[in-house]
Amino acid sequence: MNMLSTWFTGSSQSASPFPSFSSDAEIPAIPLPDYTKMQVHCSGRALLAQEMPHDQKIIKAYVQAGMLQEVPAITKQGTLWRCLRCSNKNPGLFGVHACACGRERCVYCRECLEMGRVSACTPLYYWTGPKASGVFTDPLVWSGRLSSGQERASRAAAAAGLRKEELYIWAVCGAGKTEMMFQAVAEALARGERVLWTTPRTDVVRELYPRLAEVFPGVPAAAWYAASPEARPEARLVLATAHQARRFKGAFDVVIIDEVDAFPYVFDPGLQQAVREACSPHAAVIYLSATPGGKEQQRMKSGALSYVRVPRRFHGHPLPVPECRWAGNWRLQLSRGRLPPALLQWCRSRDTAYPLFVFVPSVAAVRPAVEVLRTEGFRCDGVHAEDEKREEKITAFREEQIDILVTTTILERGVTVPKADVAVLGADDDIFTESALVQIAGRAGRNPERPEGDVVFFHYGRTKAMQQTVRHIQTMNREEAAPDE
Ligand SMILES: [Zn+2]
Ligand SMILES: [Zn+2]
Repeated sequence: MNMLSTWFTGSSQSASPFPSFSSDAEIPAIPLPDYTKMQVHCSGRALLAQEMPHDQKIIKAYVQAGMLQEVPAITKQGTLWRCLRCSNKNPGLFGVHACACGRERCVYCRECLEMGRVSACTPLYYWTGPKASGVFTDPLVWSGRLSSGQERASRAAAAAGLRKEELYIWAVCGAGKTEMMFQAVAEALARGERVLWTTPRTDVVRELYPRLAEVFPGVPAAAWYAASPEARPEARLVLATAHQARRFKGAFDVVIIDEVDAFPYVFDPGLQQAVREACSPHAAVIYLSATPGGKEQQRMKSGALSYVRVPRRFHGHPLPVPECRWAGNWRLQLSRGRLPPALLQWCRSRDTAYPLFVFVPSVAAVRPAVEVLRTEGFRCDGVHAEDEKREEKITAFREEQIDILVTTTILERGVTVPKADVAVLGADDDIFTESALVQIAGRAGRNPERPEGDVVFFHYGRTKAMQQTVRHIQTMNREEAAPDE
């Protein structure tokens, strides 16, 4: 598996198929129509003709002037197809269709269908002219204060951004990772650099975007996720899921990879390649997570990867330690449309003023759990990855119109609902790994007004992952008790 260790420094990278970009100093010799608009729109992106602001005739003129390079979106390398937009080389992820180009069997890429179909006959355009620039002096408008742990991470991140280095910020859930990045982002924007903030989860992009737009009010920013509205091409601060980062090539000087250990990112070398291609070759890379994988931990310990550890939550209180409660055969109960009595009893006895997440191991478990909790009189709803109303339901939960939100692991990260409690139904299921359970437990106690929060793992036999989770959290809490510096 191609892990982080080979990300920006490894020799296993194939040569980039993308054109090298000319220096910012060059000015096109031939006058071209709407030059600035074209430059701003196309800089650092791989675009289809229909994504261009101009028609074919003007595109041609730019190609002839050497400002745009036209390449087929899908090429053949030896016997293998390769999609230049998304780096897909997996033969199983190409299809054929009867195409408008006249071919009965024109090859297309299934991997990046989310961004519109590209076929072997589809031209892709890269900007090879001078990159659009933008310098923002003092772009950060934020009066909050950083904790001492945050401050340390913030300084390290800004230094990594300046020196174009790699840095891992290992911060517990609720440490305030976002605020730790403000300074690094502000300094990059002030240097006229472009910043990518990428994360595997759509919900995290949606939650982060308004926060960043608020603290960087004068900076053109954009959020890209599946089905997001067409975002501003001139954005200097880009938030994107890793899938959507494929829209960019060589664009960014500083990249923040948030929740770097999360699915599907960590298991998908293609996505990692895409994020690498979105950045300039010497970009600074800052990884953020509460639960680094084993390999990254090894690299940190061996000194191969610089890191900062923040074991303290921003409000200074310890992380809630999960309690494990035996719930009997919860699978059998669910299959009969019931919930384990231990869970129901706990739901009835808790202080219902606080919102409650109930994590379940599968999509199939969402509906029966919601129905039982509703008949118990709770205002309850459920979400999962394919749920089109996910965003509305999360908002309703946050606004306290819903008492209990039943969810799959889709909400294990990034989503913050103040003062929430957390239950996991079927915590012994294989899907609940140590990192998933640590992240889930991290949903509780995030608000300084209620830093404790309850976390209960309902199970039918304690697993190693559950025990490791409890130990992981206790270790972090012990570190937290130690002096900060
Ligand atoms: Zn593709
Ligand atoms: Zn075709």
